[in-house]
Amino acid sequence: MQELNLSRRLQTVAGFVPKGTRLLDVGSDHAYLPIALVSQALIDFAIAGEVVSGPYQSARSNVKESGLSDQIDVRLADGLEAFELSDGIDTVSICGMGGLLITEILGRGQEKLAGLSRLILQPNNREDDLRRWLQENQFKIVAEATVQENQKFYEIMVAEPGQMQLTEKELRFGPHLLKTKSSVFKEKWLREKAKLEKALANIPEQHSDSRSSVLQKIRDIKEVLHESESGH
Ligand code: SAM
Repeated sequence: MQELNLSRRLQTVAGFVPKGTRLLDVGSDHAYLPIALVSQALIDFAIAGEVVSGPYQSARSNVKESGLSDQIDVRLADGLEAFELSDGIDTVSICGMGGLLITEILGRGQEKLAGLSRLILQPNNREDDLRRWLQENQFKIVAEATVQENQKFYEIMVAEPGQMQLTEKELRFGPHLLKTKSSVFKEKWLREKAKLEKALANIPEQHSDSRSSVLQKIRDIKEVLHESESGH
């Protein structure tokens, strides 16, 4: 996939797409992910779904230029409306959007979710809400990754039909990410802790509820990072 210069974020997403799957990429503004996967013959068929006309046009022209129009359908559609059961889609990726928007897209397409075997999701925020949605809608997170790119951290989660029961800590930090605690994961949460400490310094003493909520978040991060309270 190097020749297409996929970003590290999308490269990681691509790594979670099973070989030979039929993929719908929702919000495929340039169709980069489908083009990379099909041109490497990792998959034979993909739909690039886009709801906004400008990005849809650019996805169309990129696919045309790539010469892969027979294998990649670019469709102007909202979320999961981009595919029909007859398309045989089994994997859906939704990347680069807010976590709540991702839950809305999935929720609006509930009847189509039953036929899928994998979701690959990369929320830009509200990861905990997305995990909670997956839990409440019979999906189990089977893999996760944290990626750093251009000074930003991104979480990628892979979900399959199934059950899970996550603790509050797992909802916030990610069940698999918590187990491996990669160096990128640690960097992400160290940065988050610094932000919260800065915010705390600006909350007046009398706003005790806000202060204790922020303090609790800081304590949770320290616990996860195995930092001693006394050191700070
Ligand atoms: N997925 C690409 C990535 O991760 O680099 C593009 C991310 S871009 C920030 C988000 C794209 O999602 C935009 O092009 C937007 O128009 C599209 N989008 C937002 N809501 C959508 C929906 N309900 N259905 C399809 N596309 C949507």
